[in-house]
Amino acid sequence: MAIRRAELEAAWAQVRERYGSYRLVLPGDPGFLCQPHECDAYCCRAFNVSLDGEEAERLRTATGWPGDRFLESEDGEPIALPLAAPFVLGRREGHCVFLTEELTCEQYDARPHPCRSYPHQVVFVETGSGRAAQPSAEAGRRAVEAVAAGRTAEGFLPLLLRHDQCPGFTGPPSTEKAWAGLLRDTYALSRRGPGEVVSSPP
Ligand code: SF4
Repeated sequence: MAIRRAELEAAWAQVRERYGSYRLVLPGDPGFLCQPHECDAYCCRAFNVSLDGEEAERLRTATGWPGDRFLESEDGEPIALPLAAPFVLGRREGHCVFLTEELTCEQYDARPHPCRSYPHQVVFVETGSGRAAQPSAEAGRRAVEAVAAGRTAEGFLPLLLRHDQCPGFTGPPSTEKAWAGLLRDTYALSRRGPGEVVSSPP
């Protein structure tokens, strides 16, 4: 297997202006090791996190808390937006309700999908037009599998991106195999949940 780097770099060059706070991740780039004390757990402070009913239920079970204790709520009822992931993780003193004083996640095992995929996300470029695109789940999966296997993707090219403001990219260089696994996992998380943090940093 040899990842087709030149194709990914060329596609990224066509859309990078749309993703100002992200960078392309390629095999050989430094791996991710969370460094919460370097950034004061920036991601748990800067973003609001959306979650679906299944994720909210998982947290309810894990904490034993009623929803209004960990979801943004009004008059004792969690606020439900008209979105596929309608709930918003609660905040306290300017950060996620589950961020501890030691800068760890109090509910790490039950954390929502956006927290699992951060600081990565997968975006797609249409191969014909070179424009950013949103393929169906199946077309996206096929494209991810093709690129992860070093083949040419038809229709759409998936790009693995990382958030620029996260200082956690201090690990050893990723192998092609590890990179392919990360691409697959990040895409799978994005299809199961909202897949990315939903608001811009303050
Ligand atoms: S994921 Fe990045 S931004 Fe968030 S706590 Fe870890 S190093 Fe900091």
